Parts: sequence; structure tokens; C-alpha cells
Amino acid sequence: MSDIDLPPDLDEPTGPLPVVAVVGRPNVGKSTLVNRFIGRRAAVVQDVPGVTRDRIPYQALWNGKNFTVVDTGGWEPKATGMAAAIARQAEYAMKTADVIVLVVDASVGATETDLAAARVLRRSDRPVILVANKVDDERSEAGAAELWSLGLGEPFPVSALHGRGSGDLLDLVLDAMPEAPRETEDQGGPRRVALVGRPNVGKSSLINRLSKEERSVVDSVAGTTVDPVDSIVTIGGEEWRFVDTAGLRRRVNTASGTEYYASLRTEAAIEAAEVAVVLLAADEVISEQDQRVITQVIEAGRSLVIAFNKWDTLDEDRHAQLEKEIDRDLARVKWASRVNISALTGRGVNKLAGHLKEALAGWETRVPTAELNTFIRALVQETPPPARGGRAPKIKYVTQADIRPPRFVVFSTGFLEAGYRRFLERRLREQFGFHGTPIDVSVKVRE
Ligand code: GDP
Ligand code: GDP
Repeated sequence: MSDIDLPPDLDEPTGPLPVVAVVGRPNVGKSTLVNRFIGRRAAVVQDVPGVTRDRIPYQALWNGKNFTVVDTGGWEPKATGMAAAIARQAEYAMKTADVIVLVVDASVGATETDLAAARVLRRSDRPVILVANKVDDERSEAGAAELWSLGLGEPFPVSALHGRGSGDLLDLVLDAMPEAPRETEDQGGPRRVALVGRPNVGKSSLINRLSKEERSVVDSVAGTTVDPVDSIVTIGGEEWRFVDTAGLRRRVNTASGTEYYASLRTEAAIEAAEVAVVLLAADEVISEQDQRVITQVIEAGRSLVIAFNKWDTLDEDRHAQLEKEIDRDLARVKWASRVNISALTGRGVNKLAGHLKEALAGWETRVPTAELNTFIRALVQETPPPARGGRAPKIKYVTQADIRPPRFVVFSTGFLEAGYRRFLERRLREQFGFHGTPIDVSVKVRE
């Protein structure tokens, strides 16, 4: 049980790594190509739709350079259809990646879906590399040339399956990579906070209080362009950038917008932020709608502070009731940072800063690989994964593939049940904290 290897080729990166997003419709060979990039053969990602394959980042190393590869497979085309789904995927890549690799199946040619992706990616201000996959031999190169029609420049022929051209492709990807990853662009400025919650929980009241007590100090942020929709406020002696608050400050009448638009707006704010404050009204039961906002934060992988507003209204009965609701309804986010405030009286508002910092620290925690594996080795010895069909899977090693939020990949000789994955997550949290942040544990099976 103690034969946990160290990951073969991963250095300890410091700071954020450049991100390469691999996009394309299903079955064009994205996973096969990503496996080439990360240099581990036959890495089979556990087949849980939307859970383990959805935007998993892997750490890769080529020519001495560390970077993150994101396989954007695993999404489910809903009623909107494949072309819309891929357009969304491409939009997402444009927002988050440093280099985008669009994979097309050259043996099939450009389909409607490929065209939809190309249309979006032609607007990209990030380099886009068009890969013509499944060019297994010279004869199939004609199929690759046909992909010029996508308007993304020269198609680069590879065979992800056999490795043909994949080294040259990696060289090309590295060449296209910027000197510094895009995340560093806004480093140094105030941390970005999304203030979200269902209508009437007190979002406008809170942002108005923050801006009143701690005058907006837009000018002092040298060298950053402050979007007029954001507010910069000082809490606990530090500046914070509350994103997308124009509507809140002006108390625009949201009655005209349907819940659908409110939810899109919330999503955009969360996407733009590093930490989200979900505001709940302490005088009302925790509702479905509150839960949906929390889910949006988790799904976006942002750190989370839950603030109970209107604390001034609480009497003993409601307090006792609320404690019960928290135990029952917020059990899935036990890790979230929690604070009680009153936007009306100002009570507790300054404490927000400590909670924001705590959540951001958890979100950015990177556990050194050696420490992680020492811990896992002891853990597995104590509680090995349960046998399934006679043979117990062996955990070979664990690597932290990413931060913001922390993501772990467990390499195992067999399938690990959901119960055991949750156990791992729980113990990782006990050991390393990760307070205020979602974490992700996925499993890769290799013999
Ligand atoms: P994804 O859905 O885009 O991630 O596609 P996969 O990586 O799962 O590949 C889909 C299918 O195409 C699998 O059966 C692969 O073995 C096959 N495939 C991937 N790359 C190549 C290639 O370069 N040549 C050939 N002939 N088949 C490939
Ligand atoms: P929003 O829709 O989330 O922006 O909520 P508002 O800021 O418009 O607040 C909705 C209502 O709750 C208003 O009547 C506020 O005066 C009230 N409210 C906001 N914060 C507090 C608070 O801390 N205590 C009390 N008692 N009322 C509050």
C-alpha cells in the first residue's frame, strides 16, 4: 500500500501558469491530444459526465516550461444544440486561456459545429492554433489543407493517437504563449469581489454603506483602469474592488428584468471576481434561490463568503431557527467563510475583510507535491480504497494540478467510488485547510 510514486516530471511551479485551452466538438480527439501534451500514455479519465471531464486543468511540461492544459470536453449540449454549446465553450476559452487550440477532425472535414467555433474564435485577441487531427499519414494531409476554409490560418496536421506532429505542435503552442500569463495582468490591484444574492437581501444597502463610510478612492489606484461599473471601497484598511455594482449603487429597478437576466448578471459578476460574497437575509428562510446563487459560485470555482445580513432584526427564536437552517441547508458548504452583518447599522461590516482574505488564501493554497503524497500515503495505509469486484484499486500518487481553486488529480489503478473521493476531499480539507474555497478531486485511472 505504501508504493506511492512521486509524479514523474512535475516541478513545483510558483505563481500562476499560462493556460492552454483545448476546444473542439466531441470525438475530434481532444482528450487524446491532451494526453499527448501531459505526457502520460493511456491516461483514462474516469467517465463521470460533467464531473471529472469538465474543464479539468492538467499541469504539463515541455522544453522546461510548465503550463496548464485545460480540456474543455465533457460539456453537454442542451436544448440549444451543439453549435451553441461549442460557441459558449470557445467564448469561455477566450476569457480564460493564454493560447487556444481548436481541434478539428481532418478525416471528417469542417462541420457546422466547427464553423460555429471558428466564427467565435476569429474574434479572439489570444493566439488560436488550428489543429487538423487524425492526420495519421501523409495521404490524409489533403484533408487538413481543406480546413483553411475555417479562416483561422494554416491548419496544423497531427495525429494525436500516434503522436505524429505533436512535438512540433507543442513547440508552436509554447511560441504562441505570452511571457506572463494573463492572470498577472491585474495583479497588484485590489482583489475583485462579487456581491451577489437574491433581490432584497440588502446588496444595494451594503454597497452604499461601504461606499459612504469609506469614501470611494478610485484615483489612488495607480495604473489600473477602473471600470465605471465597479466600486473601489476600503474595508479593514485595504482596498477591494466590488465588480459590476453600477446597478446596485443606482438601485435600478430590477423588476423589469426577469430572474433569468438577474441570474446572467450574477454569473458575469462571479466570473469577473476572485471571491464572491453571497448575501443572505437572516430574517428569512434560506431559499431555493439563495441555494442557486451559492451553486453558481461553486460551479465558477470562486472562493465564497456567506454573509448573513439584517442581523439587527434577529430575536432569539429566529436565531435558534437559523442555526438549524444552517446545519441543514448549508451542510454542503461547511467550508465557506461565514459572517453576520447589518448593512443598516453597520454592525460586522468591517469584519468582512478578514473573511475575504481567509477565503482568498484558501483559494490560492498550493500544497507541495512531496507533502501531499506523504499525507496521502499515510492516509491510504490507514484507510485503503474499498475493493470493487474483488480487487482493491491502488492509489499511485496525487498531484495538485491547479490553484484558484485548488484542484487535485488522484492517479489510481482503478475506479474510486464517490464515497471514497468525498472522504479524500474531507481529509484534504482537515489537513490543509482550504477554508472558504471549493476544491476539486478527480481521478485518473492508469494501470
Ligand atoms: P474528444 O471527445 O474530442 O476528447 O475525443 P477523444 O480523444 O476521446 O477521441 C475520440 C476518438 O478518436 C477516439 O476513439 C480516439 O482514439 C480517436 N482518435 C483521436 N485522435 C486520433 C488520431 O489522431 N487518429 C485516429 N485515427 N483516431 C484518433
Ligand atoms: P437588494 O435588492 O439586495 O439590493 O436589497 P436592498 O439593499 O434594496 O434592501 C432591501 C430591503 O432590506 C430594503 O428595504 C433595506 O432597507 C432593507 N435592509 C437592507 N439591509 C438591512 C439590514 O441590515 N437590516 C434591516 N433591518 N434591513 C435591511
